[in-house]
Amino acid sequence: MRSPHLLNDRTAEDYRRTVSAGVERVAARLAHVDRPFTGVSPPDLAPLVDAVDLERPLPDAADALAELDRLYLRDAVYFHHPRYLAHLNCPVVIPAVLGEAVLSAVNSSLDTWDQSAGGTLIERRLIDWTAERIGLGPGADGVFTSGGSQSNLQALLLARDEACDAVRKEEGAELRTAEILPRLRILASADGHFSVRKAAAVLGLGYEAVIQVPCDEHRRMQPAALAAELARLQREGLVPMAVAATAGTTDFGSIDPLPQIAGLCAGYGVWLHVDAAYGCGLLVSDRRRHLLDGIERADSVTVDYHKSFFQPVSSSAVLVRDRATLRHATYHADYLNPERMAAEQIPNQVDKSLQTTRRFDALKLWLTLRIMGADGIGELFDEVCDRAAHGWRLLASDPRFEVVVEPQLSTLVFRYVPEDEAAPPELADAANLHARQALAAAGTAVVAGTKVDGRDHLKFTVLNPATSLDDIAAVLDLIAEHASAYVGEALVRAA
Ligand SMILES: *Cc1c(COP(=O)(O)O)cnc(C)c1O
Repeated sequence: MRSPHLLNDRTAEDYRRTVSAGVERVAARLAHVDRPFTGVSPPDLAPLVDAVDLERPLPDAADALAELDRLYLRDAVYFHHPRYLAHLNCPVVIPAVLGEAVLSAVNSSLDTWDQSAGGTLIERRLIDWTAERIGLGPGADGVFTSGGSQSNLQALLLARDEACDAVRKEEGAELRTAEILPRLRILASADGHFSVRKAAAVLGLGYEAVIQVPCDEHRRMQPAALAAELARLQREGLVPMAVAATAGTTDFGSIDPLPQIAGLCAGYGVWLHVDAAYGCGLLVSDRRRHLLDGIERADSVTVDYHKSFFQPVSSSAVLVRDRATLRHATYHADYLNPERMAAEQIPNQVDKSLQTTRRFDALKLWLTLRIMGADGIGELFDEVCDRAAHGWRLLASDPRFEVVVEPQLSTLVFRYVPEDEAAPPELADAANLHARQALAAAGTAVVAGTKVDGRDHLKFTVLNPATSLDDIAAVLDLIAEHASAYVGEALVRAA
């Protein structure tokens, strides 16, 4: 059957027209976005989506795009807007969006050479490039993944199986993995990402296998506390399977003291994983690269290009110092990547991946490096770090707010404090929550929230070089207005 919708030699012209129309639609939207969000609520939007009859297609793509505009584009959350300050979502660079368009049209799958050819080679070059930026040495390797959570999972899988091998070597080859697992522990900072705990659960260790190492007042893992935990595990006959250090915590952007942690890991023979999902932008920074000193001693590293390289979701990688450790993710399927192919040195990336069919996400980073260059990305990341540093000064000198730590990267965690000293902390909690909600409902700004020592705080994640200090100051004013009105009303009610 000759479908006009299949992309092939005969439909190339229609492809050009249809995709261009989509690009036009998005470009028209982008040109008119005047706030990061419209404040639409699920009850507003759900009926529109529910009303679509999926059994009855529209006459053509133009109609579908017009419909999509109402269902999605009009009310989407726009990360490129300077007052989107919420989560770790970056605005994207055009070279990467170009890559996205190319990769979905060609639709290579990066599991095997025979489904990708040059795509595999491009991904491998970028893995080598990243490993070299980290300084992992000549034995390094890695693979692109769907995101930091998956990169962390894979790194910890490798660490787990290395630990099991080491235990067997020491205590007897007959020991089964199931017998070893209950003794394994992962050490992560109390501010580490929750995906480490999820990974522990998926890997058969349970959430409780992750020991939370306390942080100092800058929210960085305390090496002395880590040393004490490692000594305790040794005394108790437990096996520290990995230390998961964080280079850029999700809330505070704090970077654990990597040199000291690496020293402890070397002393105890423990796998060092560095979760640089957020901090990886420093790899291309001209002025702040030194903040990652010590990362070159890691056994594995997570990088999220979609966090701090201005890449569209998804684009992430896991890197390892010793490529031999990737064997723990290898499975030879007769139909796909039989052992014979490895012997023939056919580059099948599935040999190192937990995924099978896999997007050619690397192409986005490739075109970014070929068009903008690494320095171009690094300058953008330095700029958002600068902005957060200035924002911190603003907050630190503003009596309306308390700010938690001076940022190493680009987040600001702070809390509105009521002027009236009689206001209880629970009221301040509610006022901060209210301010966040009120901003989102109006769509004038989108900010995040988190808890610090049990108290509700607000968070700016500054990842947009277009966000000015004036934007930050203006959003702080809005927050203070909403929060103080809330406190005022509550105190009147209570009186
Ligand atoms: C965002 C984040 C992750 C998870 O990455 P995803 O790409 O969202 O899966 C892991 N670690 C840290 C420190 C992060 O900030």
